[in-house]
Amino acid sequence: MPNSLNSTNRTQNLEHASSQHFDLIVVGGGITGSGIALDAASRGMKVLILDKQDFAAGTSSRSTKLIHGGLRYLKQLEFGLVRQVGRERAILYQNAPYLVYPEKLLLPIYKSGSLGFTSTSVALWFYDLLAGVQKKERRKMLSKQKAIKEEQILSEYGLLGAGLYYEYRTDDARLTMEVLKTAVGYGAHAFNYLELNDFIQSDGQITGVKTTDLIQGTSHEFSAKYVVNATGPWVDQLRKKNSESLDKHLYITKGVHLVFSQDRFPIKHSMYFDVPDGRMVFAIKRDGKVYLGTTDTEYHDSLDKPLCTKQDMDYLLNSANTMFSKLNLSAEDVESSWAGLRPLIHEKGKSPSEVSRKDEIFEAENGLISIAGGKLTAFRKMAQKIVDRIEEKEKRFGKCKTDSILLTGTSVKGEEAYVSMRNRLKKYETKLNSEKHLVKLLHTYGEACFAMLDKADDLLFLVYTEIDYCIENESLEHLADYYARRSGKVLFAIDEMKEKQEAILAYYAKRRNLTKDEVQIEKDLVEQIKNDVQVNP
Ligand SMILES: Cc1cc2nc3c(=O)[nH]c(=O)nc-3n(C[C@H](O)[C@H](O)[C@H](O)COP(=O)(O)OP(=O)(O)OC[C@H]3O[C@@H](n4cnc5c(N)ncnc54)[C@H](O)[C@@H]3O)c2cc1C
Repeated sequence: MPNSLNSTNRTQNLEHASSQHFDLIVVGGGITGSGIALDAASRGMKVLILDKQDFAAGTSSRSTKLIHGGLRYLKQLEFGLVRQVGRERAILYQNAPYLVYPEKLLLPIYKSGSLGFTSTSVALWFYDLLAGVQKKERRKMLSKQKAIKEEQILSEYGLLGAGLYYEYRTDDARLTMEVLKTAVGYGAHAFNYLELNDFIQSDGQITGVKTTDLIQGTSHEFSAKYVVNATGPWVDQLRKKNSESLDKHLYITKGVHLVFSQDRFPIKHSMYFDVPDGRMVFAIKRDGKVYLGTTDTEYHDSLDKPLCTKQDMDYLLNSANTMFSKLNLSAEDVESSWAGLRPLIHEKGKSPSEVSRKDEIFEAENGLISIAGGKLTAFRKMAQKIVDRIEEKEKRFGKCKTDSILLTGTSVKGEEAYVSMRNRLKKYETKLNSEKHLVKLLHTYGEACFAMLDKADDLLFLVYTEIDYCIENESLEHLADYYARRSGKVLFAIDEMKEKQEAILAYYAKRRNLTKDEVQIEKDLVEQIKNDVQVNP
């Protein structure tokens, strides 16, 4: 069967898919849709998943990139959720240890803050218990002196101490891509830049979708027994297209993050800290940078391109400068930024931060199933709910088994696998002379990085082999998508990206056989994503 993620065969792959009858079509290739595709395909369903943009270009590349243990839910007394997300986190670490890994967080406690020392100690202890946190990752409380010793950037005035606990870090866009690749490994067909224009109905039931291929400008119809709308912030748009009444509807809020060099934001540990309006924000270390976020504000603008505004930036700069008075961060220190939209379910009278992050499923009379809300962390369980609902009617595909499915990029479970991959990297240290790049590559592609490293003699060639890999295995349709989501360089290595840009564009153009006009389009798209990560005045 053709691998639909090999973009050199896009035309044939689309033709092949439109000649099939699917059990399930999933609209939306973010983490929710990809999780559903994996769950369904691994139970034996014939699945098609499509996205009108690049995979994960919606909210699923714009989150805080944490697989949460659920500390926030503890504050809201949602104990069941803490237990569930704690378990999800452990499963993901087992199944993709190179992509989801522990990150120690420091929680400073000040006299004027929202947390007390004893209450934080008890809360973190309870959190560890509920979330089933393993012994070596359980919380530690630090006295004021120890907290200052651990983290010199902290202001001493009013400091009571700190808590140390664990969250798990990931790369949301990579996680989506690996889930999708795993689904394709089970036979799913996946297409990015394929937009749903309309539903096909027969006798009052949805029987398929009409789409446009935004790469080639062609139209394609696909048929299926079930169609799921997993379009995140766009869920209501599709429900409207399906003529549903939106009694219960989405409430979209925006969250932004800013990226700094770690030299300008010199923290030893990632942190979660109080800000003046009573909320809390994260400062997370990644690849020599620190990203700070997030905001949570009502949003009514275009869903397709949320941007970070000056007001968003000022809020975060003020938050960091208030907590760390020695920092003195300014707009010039911001290297890049991103903004994402939370597809929350509207709850009357609640502010953005108070609205529950729970997911909800809507089923229309003509059979369209829509899912919204939820979290990156909960994607596997959300997928299970949807596919169980279908299986209740079908009774022929069996139970969910995604808790034991290893994601692509790893062939052995858990920490041991990660340690062995890190050891395998050593072989390449003399060849490339950059441990930083090697580890980054492992965290991006898992085991697939070794084949790239075997081929590459220097760092530029390594990028070429990455691009080849993404074209053949990850539906890379535009070079800009390599910088934005396949590698994350536009956010976390923008200087490195600018250095070799011309040579890489020339390589990409040759590899894809592009005309002069097409090269110009690729060049413009790369410039565009560089602009999009700048703060919008
Ligand atoms: C600022 C912020 C921080 C967050 N931090 C975290 C965190 O740290 N941890 C966590 O667990 N969760 C976090 N979340 C929540 C999490 O990111 C989201 O719940 C999740 O990414 C939503 O994924 P999704 O697949 O439902 O939506 P999306 O990722 O938006 O995917 C929907 C897809 O549908 C596609 N689509 C829309 N219309 C069409 C159409 N007509 N045809 C075809 N395709 C279409 C879009 O292109 C899009 O790619 C955060 C969210 C935000 C905004």
